[in-house]
Amino acid sequence: MTQVKPKLLLHICCAPDEAYAVDSIRDKYELHCFFCNPNVFPLDEHKLRLDEAKKTARIYDVPFTWDEYDYHSWAEAVKDLTDTPEGGDRCRECFLLRLTRTAETCAAMGWPAFGTVMSVSPHKNVSMLNEAGMKAAANWGVSYVPFDFKKNDGFKKSVALGKQLGLYRQNYCGCELSRDEANKRVSRESNAKKQLF
Ligand code: SF4
Repeated sequence: MTQVKPKLLLHICCAPDEAYAVDSIRDKYELHCFFCNPNVFPLDEHKLRLDEAKKTARIYDVPFTWDEYDYHSWAEAVKDLTDTPEGGDRCRECFLLRLTRTAETCAAMGWPAFGTVMSVSPHKNVSMLNEAGMKAAANWGVSYVPFDFKKNDGFKKSVALGKQLGLYRQNYCGCELSRDEANKRVSRESNAKKQLF
């Protein structure tokens, strides 16, 4: 007898993390992927990440929908926190914004639960992520499933799988501030290398 799998709306931030997470849990859940990232800047980068995420859903034959791009909603959510570093309070608000939209969509679909693939990244604080997920779930009367995909070398495996499938992997988290921070890191590293020669 075929076992009925529980339905899970899976929030997607990018294709390589989507591939690894979907590959890891598709035997246990009936999945529907939901791309919701109003934080990503600029629009061309959002389009690229969305197109790659759609491609990944096609590879795994998982239904996929996405949220309209609304960078203004992200800017409004973090407007008093722009001087906080990556991993701090602005990320807390960013997680809450994206997971609230996911919880709302989950409730509108009549699905019981949602989760997110964001914990694949070693740069994401899982407690902060889960706190945001639980809060969003409570506000919309659905459940949040707290995965930690970075466990058991999840990030390394997602990098390898992304390469194998030919997926684009970004070099900054998503917002304008994280792009500037990444550019500064690269320039510092390149200056340090120059000093070695
Ligand atoms: S660094 Fe990433 S998680 Fe933090 S606010 Fe920017 S896009 Fe959101």
